[in-house]
Amino acid sequence: MARDYYEILGVTNQATEAELKKAFRGMAMQYHPDRNAGNKEAEERFKEISEAYGVLSDPDKRAYYDRFGTAPATGPGGGGGFEGGFGSLFEDIFENFLGGRGGGRRTRAARGEDLQYELKITLEEAAAGLETKVQIPRLESCEPCGATGAEPGTRKVSCEACGGRGEVRMSHGFLTVARPCPKCQGEGQINKNPCKACRGEGRQRAEHMLSIKIPPGIDDGMQLRLTGEGAGGLNGGPPGDLYVLVRIREHAMFARNGGDLFCDLPVSFPQLALGAELDVPVLGGSAALKVPAGSQPGQILRLRGKGMPHLRERGHGDACYRLLLEVPHKLNGKQREALEAFEAASKDRGPLATSFLERMKKLLG
Ligand SMILES: [Zn+2]
Ligand SMILES: [Zn+2]
Repeated sequence: MARDYYEILGVTNQATEAELKKAFRGMAMQYHPDRNAGNKEAEERFKEISEAYGVLSDPDKRAYYDRFGTAPATGPGGGGGFEGGFGSLFEDIFENFLGGRGGGRRTRAARGEDLQYELKITLEEAAAGLETKVQIPRLESCEPCGATGAEPGTRKVSCEACGGRGEVRMSHGFLTVARPCPKCQGEGQINKNPCKACRGEGRQRAEHMLSIKIPPGIDDGMQLRLTGEGAGGLNGGPPGDLYVLVRIREHAMFARNGGDLFCDLPVSFPQLALGAELDVPVLGGSAALKVPAGSQPGQILRLRGKGMPHLRERGHGDACYRLLLEVPHKLNGKQREALEAFEAASKDRGPLATSFLERMKKLLG
């Protein structure tokens, strides 16, 4: 047998709205879970008075109750009959209760998360620029429910266990510990009719095809921001942004420094001494590099404008070739003969050797 709602609140069936509210407030303060952590009896009592007040505070429901002695059924699951405006009622009553967060949580619009997508490209692609399509997995706002998670036409209701705060407080002696409300998982709200399209999540997983345009000259580690292409927002909040992190694959020939490209170029002693025209790699092909006679090992020769395009200005950097002298590991007879003849014919030493010998002579006295 259901107990009489008026009896539960300790008022007569002639009680005014203000009298009802006053009675409920007093009892709710007494039995509120925040003050009775772990007390099952208080919890039951609190539910009872909440249900009674939920019905009697609504003139229509009260009239129905007065006539039939039971609360009007409210949709599937019916029962209590105090959903609807109960959330705001609670916020009203408990506004300053326990120094709470003033009105508790509401369905707040939340911006979607920013996402990052790593895009690996080649150095050639970085030089030429690139337009590519990528598939981004993301959460998108559910359209039918407006990303609220509640079935269209319904609303979430404030959680009765925590008064919409999303947390409950437990007292241990002088210490009050707040923890997430177990009933609503800290949401402060209960979703009684989850949206069927998104199963109450407010968002749905989707694979989104996106066209990405990479400007020529982009460098490794740079990010492009695509505004509004991140995860969808909740409750009408805007979507987040998508950051495309560009990673440039290691190149077989070139290391990069800003607009310049660097390549180690192995050369022989005769090529340095006599000069040579060598076929060298450039991006997308090859080019002729003139090594002047008398070039030194370690020297850097440049092909102007054959490097990477500058990202924010006109023009290109250089392709740079560092001359690496490779001495033969073994000589055949002909090479030995030629080199011995060369050494025999060499009377003058270069400036480095001459300076070295002079300094050494001075040191030894
Ligand atoms: Zn709760
Ligand atoms: Zn939905």
